[in-house]
Amino acid sequence: MNADRNLITITSRPDPVFVEGQGSWLVDEDGKRYLDLVQGWAVNSLGHSPALIAEALQAQAARLLNPGPAYYNRPMLDLAARLTELSCFDRVFLCSSGAEANEGAVKLARRWGSKRRGGAHEVVSFEHSFHGRTMAMMSASGKPGWSEIYPPMPAGFSKKARLNDIGSVERAIGPDTAAVMIELVQGEAGVNIADPGFVRELSALTTERQVLLIADEVQTGIGRCGHAFAHELYDVEPDVMTLAKGIGGGVPLAALLCKERFNCFEPGDQGGTYCGNPLMAAVGLAVVNEVCRDGFLATVRQRAQRLAEGMQSLVREHGLIGERGVGLLRALVLPDDRAAQVVEAARGLEPTGLLLNAPRPNLLRLMPALTISEAEIDEALRLLDLALR
Ligand SMILES: *Cc1c(COP(=O)(O)O)cnc(C)c1O
Repeated sequence: MNADRNLITITSRPDPVFVEGQGSWLVDEDGKRYLDLVQGWAVNSLGHSPALIAEALQAQAARLLNPGPAYYNRPMLDLAARLTELSCFDRVFLCSSGAEANEGAVKLARRWGSKRRGGAHEVVSFEHSFHGRTMAMMSASGKPGWSEIYPPMPAGFSKKARLNDIGSVERAIGPDTAAVMIELVQGEAGVNIADPGFVRELSALTTERQVLLIADEVQTGIGRCGHAFAHELYDVEPDVMTLAKGIGGGVPLAALLCKERFNCFEPGDQGGTYCGNPLMAAVGLAVVNEVCRDGFLATVRQRAQRLAEGMQSLVREHGLIGERGVGLLRALVLPDDRAAQVVEAARGLEPTGLLLNAPRPNLLRLMPALTISEAEIDEALRLLDLALR
Protein backbone atom coordinates (compact mmCIF):
# COMPACT_ATOMS: atom_id res chain seq x y z
CA MET A 1 0.00 0.00 0.00
CA ASN A 2 1.29 3.41 -0.93
CA ALA A 3 -0.91 5.38 1.42
CA ASP A 4 1.69 8.05 2.11
CA ARG A 5 2.83 8.75 -1.45
CA ASN A 6 2.03 12.41 -0.85
CA LEU A 7 3.22 12.84 2.70
CA ILE A 8 6.72 13.96 3.56
CA THR A 9 8.38 10.93 5.07
CA ILE A 10 8.78 11.32 8.83
CA THR A 11 8.15 7.84 10.20
CA SER A 12 6.98 4.42 9.09
CA ARG A 13 3.28 3.99 9.76
CA PRO A 14 1.37 0.69 9.69
CA ASP A 15 -1.10 0.15 6.81
CA PRO A 16 -4.53 0.66 8.42
CA VAL A 17 -6.25 3.97 7.63
CA PHE A 18 -8.45 4.96 10.54
CA VAL A 19 -11.87 6.38 9.83
CA GLU A 20 -13.71 6.33 13.13
CA GLY A 21 -13.15 6.30 16.87
CA GLN A 22 -15.43 5.94 19.89
CA GLY A 23 -14.13 5.76 23.45
CA SER A 24 -11.39 3.13 23.63
CA TRP A 25 -12.06 1.85 20.10
CA LEU A 26 -10.78 2.75 16.64
CA VAL A 27 -12.13 1.45 13.33
CA ASP A 28 -10.18 1.26 10.07
CA GLU A 29 -11.36 1.55 6.46
CA ASP A 30 -11.96 -2.21 6.25
CA GLY A 31 -14.23 -2.08 9.29
CA LYS A 32 -11.75 -3.81 11.60
CA ARG A 33 -11.93 -2.71 15.25
CA TYR A 34 -8.96 -2.00 17.48
CA LEU A 35 -8.84 -1.55 21.24
CA ASP A 36 -6.62 1.50 21.53
CA LEU A 37 -4.12 1.75 24.40
CA VAL A 38 -2.12 4.45 22.64
CA GLN A 39 -4.83 7.10 22.42
CA GLY A 40 -2.89 9.52 20.28
CA TRP A 41 0.13 9.14 22.60
CA ALA A 42 -1.66 9.74 25.89
CA VAL A 43 -3.58 12.63 24.35
CA ASN A 44 -7.20 11.46 24.25
CA SER A 45 -7.86 11.59 27.97
CA LEU A 46 -11.60 11.03 27.45
CA GLY A 47 -11.14 8.51 24.62
CA HIS A 48 -12.03 8.95 20.97
CA SER A 49 -14.64 11.49 19.90
CA PRO A 50 -16.30 12.09 23.27
CA ALA A 51 -19.67 13.87 23.03
CA LEU A 52 -18.44 16.46 25.52
CA ILE A 53 -15.69 17.63 23.14
CA ALA A 54 -17.91 17.50 20.05
CA GLU A 55 -20.44 19.68 21.88
CA ALA A 56 -17.85 22.16 23.13
CA LEU A 57 -16.38 22.47 19.62
CA GLN A 58 -19.75 22.89 17.95
CA ALA A 59 -21.07 25.44 20.41
CA GLN A 60 -17.88 27.52 20.43
CA ALA A 61 -17.35 27.31 16.65
CA ALA A 62 -20.86 28.62 16.07
CA ARG A 63 -20.44 31.38 18.64
CA LEU A 64 -16.92 32.81 18.32
CA LEU A 65 -14.05 31.12 16.50
CA ASN A 66 -11.20 33.57 16.66
CA PRO A 67 -11.21 37.18 17.84
CA GLY A 68 -7.38 37.08 17.78
CA PRO A 69 -4.70 36.61 20.42
CA ALA A 70 -4.49 40.31 21.26
CA TYR A 71 -8.06 40.38 22.62
CA TYR A 72 -9.64 38.65 25.60
CA ASN A 73 -12.17 35.93 25.00
CA ARG A 74 -14.37 34.17 27.57
CA PRO A 75 -13.07 30.55 27.24
CA MET A 76 -9.44 31.79 27.51
CA LEU A 77 -10.23 33.57 30.80
CA ASP A 78 -12.35 30.74 32.15
CA LEU A 79 -9.78 28.04 31.41
CA ALA A 80 -6.98 30.11 32.97
CA ALA A 81 -9.12 30.70 36.06
CA ARG A 82 -9.99 26.99 36.34
CA LEU A 83 -6.35 25.89 36.00
CA THR A 84 -5.18 28.29 38.71
CA GLU A 85 -8.04 27.16 40.97
CA LEU A 86 -7.00 23.50 40.53
CA SER A 87 -3.26 24.00 40.94
CA CYS A 88 -0.65 25.85 42.99
CA PHE A 89 -0.02 28.28 40.10
CA ASP A 90 -1.28 31.83 39.63
CA ARG A 91 -0.75 32.62 35.96
CA VAL A 92 -1.43 30.79 32.70
CA PHE A 93 -0.31 31.19 29.09
CA LEU A 94 -2.28 29.10 26.58
CA CYS A 95 -0.72 27.78 23.38
CA SER A 96 -0.95 24.83 21.01
CA SER A 97 1.70 22.16 21.66
CA GLY A 98 3.87 20.73 24.38
CA ALA A 99 7.05 21.91 22.70
CA GLU A 100 5.63 25.43 22.47
CA ALA A 101 4.68 25.43 26.15
CA ASN A 102 8.16 24.18 27.09
CA GLU A 103 9.80 26.83 24.92
CA GLY A 104 7.66 29.34 26.78
CA ALA A 105 8.88 27.93 30.10
CA VAL A 106 12.51 28.29 28.99
CA LYS A 107 11.86 31.84 27.78
CA LEU A 108 10.28 32.66 31.13
CA ALA A 109 13.27 31.17 32.97
CA ARG A 110 15.71 33.16 30.82
CA ARG A 111 13.70 36.38 31.29
CA TRP A 112 13.67 35.81 35.03
CA GLY A 113 17.38 34.99 34.93
CA SER A 114 18.15 38.21 33.07
CA LYS A 115 16.06 40.31 35.45
CA ARG A 116 16.78 38.68 38.81
CA ARG A 117 19.79 36.41 38.55
CA GLY A 118 22.42 38.44 36.72
CA GLY A 119 21.88 36.88 33.30
CA ALA A 120 21.54 33.22 34.30
CA HIS A 121 20.14 31.39 31.28
CA GLU A 122 21.22 27.73 31.28
CA VAL A 123 18.57 25.06 31.70
CA VAL A 124 19.62 21.78 33.31
CA SER A 125 17.60 18.83 32.03
CA PHE A 126 17.85 15.05 32.33
CA GLU A 127 19.36 12.18 30.39
CA HIS A 128 16.70 10.38 28.31
CA SER A 129 14.20 13.21 28.83
CA PHE A 130 11.81 14.30 26.08
CA HIS A 131 10.59 17.88 25.84
CA GLY A 132 9.45 18.19 22.23
CA ARG A 133 10.69 18.67 18.70
CA THR A 134 11.47 22.33 18.18
CA MET A 135 15.21 22.92 17.84
CA ALA A 136 15.56 24.25 21.39
CA MET A 137 13.48 21.44 22.87
CA MET A 138 15.51 18.85 20.98
CA SER A 139 18.55 20.48 22.55
CA ALA A 140 16.90 20.34 25.99
CA SER A 141 15.89 16.69 25.53
CA GLY A 142 18.25 13.97 26.66
CA LYS A 143 17.36 11.58 23.86
CA PRO A 144 20.52 9.79 22.71
CA GLY A 145 21.54 10.86 19.19
CA TRP A 146 19.30 13.90 19.02
CA SER A 147 22.11 16.44 19.02
CA GLU A 148 23.48 14.94 15.78
CA ILE A 149 20.39 15.24 13.55
CA TYR A 150 20.27 19.00 12.95
CA PRO A 151 23.54 20.54 14.09
CA PRO A 152 24.28 23.11 15.29
CA MET A 153 21.87 22.91 18.21
CA PRO A 154 20.67 25.93 20.23
CA ALA A 155 22.96 26.62 23.21
CA GLY A 156 22.02 26.76 26.86
CA PHE A 157 21.14 23.11 27.40
CA SER A 158 24.57 21.53 27.74
CA LYS A 159 24.07 20.13 31.24
CA LYS A 160 22.22 16.83 31.54
CA ALA A 161 21.69 15.37 35.00
CA ARG A 162 20.65 11.80 35.83
CA LEU A 163 17.16 11.02 37.09
CA ASN A 164 17.15 9.99 40.78
CA ASP A 165 20.78 11.13 41.25
CA ILE A 166 20.68 14.37 43.23
CA GLY A 167 24.49 14.65 43.12
CA SER A 168 24.35 14.86 39.33
CA VAL A 169 21.91 17.78 39.57
CA GLU A 170 24.08 19.53 42.18
CA ARG A 171 27.09 19.23 39.88
CA ALA A 172 25.14 20.43 36.83
CA ILE A 173 23.84 23.62 38.48
CA GLY A 174 26.27 26.52 38.06
CA PRO A 175 26.19 30.32 38.29
CA ASP A 176 24.59 30.54 34.81
CA THR A 177 21.79 28.09 35.60
CA ALA A 178 18.32 29.62 35.48
CA ALA A 179 16.22 26.47 35.77
CA VAL A 180 16.03 22.71 36.12
CA MET A 181 13.45 21.08 33.86
CA ILE A 182 12.11 17.62 34.68
CA GLU A 183 9.49 15.07 33.70
CA LEU A 184 8.47 13.46 37.00
CA VAL A 185 7.68 10.35 34.99
CA GLN A 186 9.76 10.17 31.82
CA GLY A 187 7.19 9.04 29.27
CA GLU A 188 9.01 8.66 25.97
CA ALA A 189 12.04 7.17 27.72
CA GLY A 190 9.88 4.26 28.85
CA VAL A 191 7.97 5.34 31.96
CA ASN A 192 10.95 6.05 34.23
CA ILE A 193 9.59 7.22 37.55
CA ALA A 194 11.33 9.84 39.70
CA ASP A 195 11.77 8.70 43.32
CA PRO A 196 9.82 10.69 45.94
CA GLY A 197 12.98 11.32 47.96
CA PHE A 198 14.84 12.57 44.90
CA VAL A 199 12.03 14.96 43.96
CA ARG A 200 11.86 16.42 47.48
CA GLU A 201 15.65 16.94 47.46
CA LEU A 202 15.43 18.47 43.99
CA SER A 203 12.76 20.89 45.13
CA ALA A 204 14.85 21.91 48.16
CA LEU A 205 18.00 22.20 46.02
CA THR A 206 16.41 24.42 43.37
CA THR A 207 14.95 26.67 46.09
CA GLU A 208 18.31 26.92 47.85
CA ARG A 209 20.25 27.64 44.65
CA GLN A 210 17.58 30.05 43.39
CA VAL A 211 16.87 28.30 40.13
CA LEU A 212 13.41 27.60 38.78
CA LEU A 213 11.99 24.12 38.98
CA ILE A 214 10.06 23.48 35.76
CA ALA A 215 7.82 20.40 35.75
CA ASP A 216 7.11 19.21 32.21
CA GLU A 217 3.71 17.62 32.83
CA VAL A 218 2.82 17.49 29.15
CA GLN A 219 2.31 13.73 29.41
CA THR A 220 1.70 13.26 33.17
CA GLY A 221 -0.79 16.10 33.76
CA ILE A 222 -4.59 16.24 33.68
CA GLY A 223 -5.32 12.95 35.38
CA ARG A 224 -2.96 10.66 33.50
CA CYS A 225 -1.21 9.65 36.74
CA GLY A 226 -4.43 9.37 38.75
CA HIS A 227 -4.20 12.93 40.09
CA ALA A 228 -4.80 16.25 38.37
CA PHE A 229 -1.01 16.77 38.20
CA ALA A 230 1.78 14.27 38.90
CA HIS A 231 3.65 16.65 41.22
CA GLU A 232 0.77 16.33 43.70
CA LEU A 233 1.91 12.74 44.25
CA TYR A 234 5.31 14.04 45.34
CA ASP A 235 3.94 16.75 47.58
CA VAL A 236 6.15 19.42 45.96
CA GLU A 237 5.23 22.66 44.24
CA PRO A 238 7.22 23.39 41.07
CA ASP A 239 7.70 27.07 40.13
CA VAL A 240 6.59 26.48 36.57
CA MET A 241 4.55 23.71 34.93
CA THR A 242 3.73 22.87 31.34
CA LEU A 243 0.69 20.95 30.13
CA ALA A 244 -0.37 19.70 26.69
CA LYS A 245 -1.50 16.28 25.40
CA GLY A 246 -4.34 15.34 27.82
CA ILE A 247 -5.56 18.90 28.40
CA GLY A 248 -6.90 19.11 24.86
CA GLY A 249 -8.28 15.58 24.83
CA GLY A 250 -7.31 15.34 21.15
CA VAL A 251 -7.20 18.97 20.00
CA PRO A 252 -4.03 21.09 19.92
CA LEU A 253 -3.99 22.85 23.28
CA ALA A 254 -1.16 23.44 25.74
CA ALA A 255 -0.49 25.63 28.75
CA LEU A 256 2.40 27.22 30.61
CA LEU A 257 1.68 27.94 34.26
CA CYS A 258 3.76 29.82 36.83
CA LYS A 259 3.67 31.28 40.29
CA GLU A 260 3.01 34.99 40.57
CA ARG A 261 6.62 35.86 41.36
CA PHE A 262 7.81 34.43 38.05
CA ASN A 263 5.20 36.29 36.02
CA CYS A 264 7.97 38.38 34.45
CA PHE A 265 7.39 38.66 30.68
CA GLU A 266 7.15 42.21 29.37
CA PRO A 267 4.36 42.89 26.88
CA GLY A 268 5.58 41.59 23.52
CA ASP A 269 8.06 39.06 24.95
CA GLN A 270 5.82 36.08 24.24
CA GLY A 271 2.83 35.34 22.05
CA GLY A 272 1.55 33.43 19.02
CA THR A 273 -1.35 33.55 16.58
CA TYR A 274 -3.31 30.74 18.24
CA CYS A 275 -2.46 31.55 21.85
CA GLY A 276 -5.65 31.37 23.88
CA ASN A 277 -7.94 30.83 20.90
CA PRO A 278 -11.48 30.23 22.18
CA LEU A 279 -12.15 27.05 20.19
CA MET A 280 -9.35 25.10 21.85
CA ALA A 281 -9.81 26.79 25.22
CA ALA A 282 -13.49 25.79 25.26
CA VAL A 283 -12.47 22.17 24.71
CA GLY A 284 -9.77 22.41 27.40
CA LEU A 285 -12.29 23.75 29.88
CA ALA A 286 -14.70 20.89 29.14
CA VAL A 287 -11.90 18.30 29.49
CA VAL A 288 -10.49 19.75 32.70
CA ASN A 289 -13.94 20.06 34.29
CA GLU A 290 -14.71 16.43 33.44
CA VAL A 291 -11.39 15.01 34.66
CA CYS A 292 -11.52 17.03 37.88
CA ARG A 293 -15.18 16.43 38.71
CA ASP A 294 -16.00 14.45 41.87
CA GLY A 295 -15.10 10.78 41.63
CA PHE A 296 -13.49 10.81 38.18
CA LEU A 297 -9.87 10.52 39.36
CA ALA A 298 -10.74 7.94 42.04
CA THR A 299 -12.11 5.77 39.22
CA VAL A 300 -8.93 6.35 37.18
CA ARG A 301 -6.89 5.09 40.15
CA GLN A 302 -9.08 1.98 40.47
CA ARG A 303 -8.74 1.25 36.75
CA ALA A 304 -4.97 1.75 37.01
CA GLN A 305 -4.86 -0.75 39.85
CA ARG A 306 -6.79 -3.32 37.80
CA LEU A 307 -4.55 -2.80 34.79
CA ALA A 308 -1.38 -3.02 36.90
CA GLU A 309 -2.52 -6.27 38.53
CA GLY A 310 -3.38 -7.78 35.14
CA MET A 311 0.01 -6.75 33.80
CA GLN A 312 1.70 -8.34 36.82
CA SER A 313 -0.07 -11.63 36.00
CA LEU A 314 1.25 -11.39 32.44
CA VAL A 315 4.75 -10.80 33.83
CA ARG A 316 4.49 -14.03 35.84
CA GLU A 317 2.88 -16.11 33.08
CA HIS A 318 5.25 -15.02 30.32
CA GLY A 319 8.42 -14.68 32.39
CA LEU A 320 8.74 -10.95 31.68
CA ILE A 321 11.06 -8.60 33.56
CA GLY A 322 8.39 -6.46 35.17
CA GLU A 323 5.65 -3.88 35.11
CA ARG A 324 5.70 -0.27 36.29
CA GLY A 325 3.84 2.97 36.00
CA VAL A 326 1.86 5.69 37.69
CA GLY A 327 -1.88 5.80 37.13
CA LEU A 328 -2.75 5.01 33.52
CA LEU A 329 0.78 5.61 32.23
CA ARG A 330 2.28 2.13 32.41
CA ALA A 331 5.01 -0.02 30.93
CA LEU A 332 5.72 -3.70 30.52
CA VAL A 333 9.41 -4.66 30.40
CA LEU A 334 10.25 -7.63 28.17
CA PRO A 335 13.25 -9.92 28.60
CA ASP A 336 14.44 -9.23 25.03
CA ASP A 337 14.16 -6.70 22.21
CA ARG A 338 10.90 -7.85 20.70
CA ALA A 339 8.58 -4.98 21.70
CA ALA A 340 8.10 -3.90 18.07
CA GLN A 341 7.12 -7.48 17.12
CA VAL A 342 4.58 -7.62 19.95
CA VAL A 343 3.12 -4.27 18.81
CA GLU A 344 2.73 -5.67 15.30
CA ALA A 345 1.29 -8.98 16.48
CA ALA A 346 -1.22 -7.17 18.71
CA ARG A 347 -2.35 -4.89 15.88
CA GLY A 348 -2.71 -7.88 13.56
CA LEU A 349 -4.89 -9.96 15.91
CA GLU A 350 -8.23 -11.02 14.36
CA PRO A 351 -11.02 -10.16 14.56
CA THR A 352 -10.07 -7.40 17.00
CA GLY A 353 -6.68 -5.72 17.08
CA LEU A 354 -4.92 -4.11 20.04
CA LEU A 355 -2.91 -0.89 19.68
CA LEU A 356 0.19 -0.56 21.84
CA ASN A 357 3.35 1.55 21.74
CA ALA A 358 7.00 0.47 22.02
CA PRO A 359 9.11 3.49 23.05
CA ARG A 360 12.10 1.19 23.63
CA PRO A 361 13.11 -2.10 21.96
CA ASN A 362 12.33 -4.13 25.10
CA LEU A 363 9.43 -2.12 26.48
CA LEU A 364 5.71 -1.66 25.80
CA ARG A 365 3.89 1.47 26.92
CA LEU A 366 0.18 1.46 27.75
CA MET A 367 -1.68 4.76 27.99
CA PRO A 368 -5.39 4.04 27.65
CA ALA A 369 -8.18 6.60 27.78
CA LEU A 370 -8.84 7.67 31.37
CA THR A 371 -12.41 6.55 30.69
CA ILE A 372 -11.52 2.93 29.83
CA SER A 373 -13.98 0.48 31.41
CA GLU A 374 -13.12 -2.56 33.55
CA ALA A 375 -14.39 -4.84 30.76
CA GLU A 376 -12.15 -3.07 28.24
CA ILE A 377 -9.13 -3.44 30.54
CA ASP A 378 -9.83 -7.18 30.82
CA GLU A 379 -10.22 -7.42 27.03
CA ALA A 380 -6.94 -5.52 26.51
CA LEU A 381 -5.14 -7.91 28.87
CA ARG A 382 -6.61 -10.91 27.02
CA LEU A 383 -5.42 -9.53 23.67
CA LEU A 384 -2.02 -8.63 25.10
CA ASP A 385 -1.67 -12.20 26.39
CA LEU A 386 -2.41 -13.50 22.85
CA ALA A 387 0.09 -11.07 21.30
CA LEU A 388 2.82 -12.08 23.75
CA ARG A 389 2.34 -15.70 22.69
C1 LIG B 1 4.79 14.80 24.00
C2 LIG B 1 5.67 15.53 24.94
C3 LIG B 1 6.18 16.80 24.63
C4 LIG B 1 5.97 17.46 23.30
O1 LIG B 1 4.63 17.79 23.09
P1 LIG B 1 4.16 18.19 21.60
O2 LIG B 1 2.72 18.58 21.78
O3 LIG B 1 4.37 17.00 20.74
O4 LIG B 1 5.00 19.34 21.19
C5 LIG B 1 6.92 17.45 25.59
N1 LIG B 1 7.17 16.89 26.79
C6 LIG B 1 6.69 15.68 27.12
C7 LIG B 1 6.98 15.13 28.47
C8 LIG B 1 5.94 14.94 26.21
O5 LIG B 1 5.50 13.72 26.52
